[in-house]
Amino acid sequence: MSSTITTTIAATNGVKVKVDDLPTVRPTAILHRTPWRPPVAVSAQGVYVTLEDGRTIIDGVGGAAVACIGNGHPVVLKALKEQVDKVSYVYNMQLSNEPAEELAQILIDSGKGAFELCGFAAGGSEAMEGVLKLARQYFYEVGQPKRTNFISRQLSYHGNCVATLSLSGNPARRVPYEDILIHEGYHKVSPAYAKRFQKPEETEEQYVERLRQELEDKFLELGPDTVIGFVAETVVGATTGACPAPKGYFKAMKSVCKKYGALFILDEVMSGMGRMGTMHAWESFGDGEAPDMQAVAKGLGGGYASIGAILVNKQIADGIRDKNGFWKHGHTYQAHPLACAASVAVQKVIASENLLENGRVTGEYLASLLRQRLQSPNALAAPYTFDVRGGGSFWAVEFDFTGPDARKVDLRGGKFAMIVQARCLDEGLVIMGMTGGANLEGTVGDHCIFAPAYNVTKEEVEKIVDIFVDSVESVLTESF
Ligand code: PLP
Repeated sequence: MSSTITTTIAATNGVKVKVDDLPTVRPTAILHRTPWRPPVAVSAQGVYVTLEDGRTIIDGVGGAAVACIGNGHPVVLKALKEQVDKVSYVYNMQLSNEPAEELAQILIDSGKGAFELCGFAAGGSEAMEGVLKLARQYFYEVGQPKRTNFISRQLSYHGNCVATLSLSGNPARRVPYEDILIHEGYHKVSPAYAKRFQKPEETEEQYVERLRQELEDKFLELGPDTVIGFVAETVVGATTGACPAPKGYFKAMKSVCKKYGALFILDEVMSGMGRMGTMHAWESFGDGEAPDMQAVAKGLGGGYASIGAILVNKQIADGIRDKNGFWKHGHTYQAHPLACAASVAVQKVIASENLLENGRVTGEYLASLLRQRLQSPNALAAPYTFDVRGGGSFWAVEFDFTGPDARKVDLRGGKFAMIVQARCLDEGLVIMGMTGGANLEGTVGDHCIFAPAYNVTKEEVEKIVDIFVDSVESVLTESF
């Protein structure tokens, strides 16, 4: 199929290229994550980023749902500068540091009794890797060494390292690593994605019961006393795009874990730290069910530094403390003073500027504009807009081209989302276009993710939606 869609993807010196001509390889010293060299950002303030070509564009997704208070916040910059002058680095196996101690306390207090201990990491994958190892360490210490199995879900993403990718049901990211991923000990059950996978004859309650039964059957198949825990993203991010589970799902899944003495583990790397409008996503999108262990990352440091954290409840804390009393795991940059100082400042800004409230209000506004512009009966994109979903400051539009379609260009399988992402960049907007979600193999489905800063304004939201909808409509029109 030949394409008539062109885009500059801002990487070809302004020369429009045919989408089918991609990838355009550009000589550069960096091993980029795209086949082309992305445009270089030279300065950034709030949700605006200025590029090397002098254009100032707006970021509608905080990079990768990270920059939750935007760039250049003076409170964070001041905290970072002060910390550089005090202690820039100490190694966590020899010395602790003030911002790390303060941040751990902020995180534990944020759980309102749910958490007792906090460990640090340098990002989301590292935090999730730490979760897997600490969960195993817990059962080892309390005399249940037979527990070696994790159960996670298809259409999930928990990180890009070998263990966390083994845990992830993200087919696109597993290629070409499948044969070096770990299969023993990593088991999958169905995703909780009602709009695609709830059967027409099922009520929501029956759908949840089917998923609960599937998890229980998996426990029984593996041997309940061999399961370490069930791991899930509270709101699925990368794989199906801001996709919350049906009501009652987490309560049901946690009940299975409790019945068999296993751990209920939530990955809130993307959906946590205020992204869903509450500090922890499980407070509003997880039936209020606190996990035994949780990972957070992106919104913790808001992109001012590379950081992740692990939160554990009293049961796990006691299990570890009663035995050897320490975490047999660590990295060089764990509890880095600069990262912790930046994160303390980010969390103080969120609280003092009431940004969770602003994130909820502007997020709802974003969703209402997207629905209005994409799903109203005479909207150009209406026949292809499958869903607009999410919550807080985290939303996604899922497009569907699986039905009969007279387009000349085959837009399925992530292609449309990627082209729209490139077109948005040309037009001055950063969003995230992703593949997958519409089938369990992850080969069909297109979604575009929005995760603006919690302090975005309504005018900025309007700008984001305007550029996005214009880009969607122009790509659709060109595909005829
Ligand atoms: N877990 C979830 C739910 C994520 O969304 C991500 C990243 O997108 C990760 C883990 C991995 O985090 P990082 O990219 O910081 O390693």
